[in-house]
Amino acid sequence: MEFGHRLCRAFETYLLIHDAPSLSFEWVWNLIHSIAYNDELYLAECAGCSAYYVQDAYALDHRTCPTCEIELHAPRRAAVQLAAGT
Ligand SMILES: [Zn+2]
Repeated sequence: MEFGHRLCRAFETYLLIHDAPSLSFEWVWNLIHSIAYNDELYLAECAGCSAYYVQDAYALDHRTCPTCEIELHAPRRAAVQLAAGT
């Protein structure tokens, strides 16, 4: 019962802080269960910044969170855009 209340409060907070929320309550419920049972998804810790991120248990994990991944590839993207003249 307490878990349900906490999840509802967390989802309501999510709705308040996002102008265009992309997650439904059902999707969040399934995500939490997948992480809790640790079968398909789990929380991994980034080696670069120590943040936690959702990782697919069957995919390669380079221990890099999405934010660090974007920062790692930013110079390459800038070079590609420069070469393309955009
Ligand atoms: Zn990171």
